[in-house]
Amino acid sequence: MRKHRIGIAFFYHESHSFSPMKTEIEHFRNEGYFIGNEIYDAYTGTKTEVGGFLDVLKHDEDVEIVPLLCAAAIPSGVVSTNAYSIMEKQMLESIMQAGRMDGLLLALHGAMVVEDTFDPEEHLLGKIRELIGPGIPIATTLDMHANLSEKMLEYTPLHFGFKTYPHVDMYDQGVYAAKALMKQLRHGVKYYASFEKLPMMPPSINMRTSKGPMRKMIEWAKQAEEEEGICNVSVFGGFPYSDIPMAGASVVVVSLDPQRGKDTAEKLASLFWSVREEFIMELPNVKEGIDLAMSIEDDKPVVLADISDNPLSCGSGDTTELLREMLKMNIPDTLFGGLYDPESIKACRKAGVGNTVSLSLGGKVSPEFGKPVQVEATVVALSDGIFQNSGPFNQYLKVDLKGAAHIRVGNMDILLIGRPMSANDPEMFRHIGIEPSTRRILGLKAKNHFRAAFEPIVGRIIYVDAPGVASNRLTTFTYRHIPRPIWPLDDIQYEIEKRRTKEWKQ
Ligand SMILES: [Zn+2]
Repeated sequence: MRKHRIGIAFFYHESHSFSPMKTEIEHFRNEGYFIGNEIYDAYTGTKTEVGGFLDVLKHDEDVEIVPLLCAAAIPSGVVSTNAYSIMEKQMLESIMQAGRMDGLLLALHGAMVVEDTFDPEEHLLGKIRELIGPGIPIATTLDMHANLSEKMLEYTPLHFGFKTYPHVDMYDQGVYAAKALMKQLRHGVKYYASFEKLPMMPPSINMRTSKGPMRKMIEWAKQAEEEEGICNVSVFGGFPYSDIPMAGASVVVVSLDPQRGKDTAEKLASLFWSVREEFIMELPNVKEGIDLAMSIEDDKPVVLADISDNPLSCGSGDTTELLREMLKMNIPDTLFGGLYDPESIKACRKAGVGNTVSLSLGGKVSPEFGKPVQVEATVVALSDGIFQNSGPFNQYLKVDLKGAAHIRVGNMDILLIGRPMSANDPEMFRHIGIEPSTRRILGLKAKNHFRAAFEPIVGRIIYVDAPGVASNRLTTFTYRHIPRPIWPLDDIQYEIEKRRTKEWKQ
């Protein structure tokens, strides 16, 4: 029997319209840019979407895997037109050169923005569809923070959103997408997709799935999946820092019955709207956050999370307000990191381990959020910045910080890193000899993903409202392209509430 030839690809970026850091092709090439067979080395055995695709396909005797292109970069500013064109060209060429293809698995993010294209992923999917024709099944995985437009559903009904935040089910969604695609190929299953876009753009701070409104949404989504004819329900919170017409929350239901799918999508959208106020959180400012941290007696470290500068929400990782205040307090047993500062790492290398050096820390990419902090530091250790994640988020994925330095300033230890990266895995510190679990206070450039690996080793987590591009206060951004009116920026009535006539267990 002839084998099914299944293409796999990954095209991933979360783009912040208000970040000064434009994302160029080198950002993808430095982080994750793999063509053809290189994909096996990068993703086999990882708990990523592509890891999931590979695990399903490689155990299927009737499948020949066709690795195409994997391109991913850490969230940052919008992707340059040039970078997008290079990747689109590579993707389409890989598909053309691959010859016959029977199906395609595509891991997308859903919140990529290109300088001159609001919805590049939908654009790329359209180009791929044009190239391979209408009959070949495609399945995608999407981030929970995707800003989806209905057009995505024109190219395929098979979309699988993450159901966890921190995103620890990327692998599982990869598996589900691959299995659904194979079902369609083998048994000719016909899927339908139903879509509801909501006029709301909740901040992501309280979108965790362990508690709060998103937990409720995911539980309701899973309940709906138990119903006959419903294959998959995805709830997308959206990414509120993309200033695009398709910004905002949405629901996608994959079903075998379009009417049931539509009803379910409407119900879920109505429920989503009903819990919206629970997404709003009031946070302490830097001073209040530090005072609170110091007042807590615990064997485990207290975390001060500098959420507004979280690199995985497009922060530059080099804002200084929290750092400056923590240095002023000079609290024993504190650790701060990772601070993006390649210049200071260079100076540390020049000074050498054990020596002191004058540094101007951080504040270089976004000085509007705090000037650099002048310090006299001792260089404790230096590293190439390469480690492997050990925690559940992006487990086993290799991370390259492009160099790191452990410095000490007064009582405080600071980890400097060579590119913006959230402190999502303790290995970021351990690889250079720092043990975070024994500290009193940790100042982390992180928001929610770090909880997956850090919650077992830390106590209280305090989100701090410092200035930064990933600020929780959406009113600080000058939006020009998002649909208006939109909650929480505008006070609106949403008509689906009136349509909500069906009984629904809550
Ligand atoms: Zn996300």
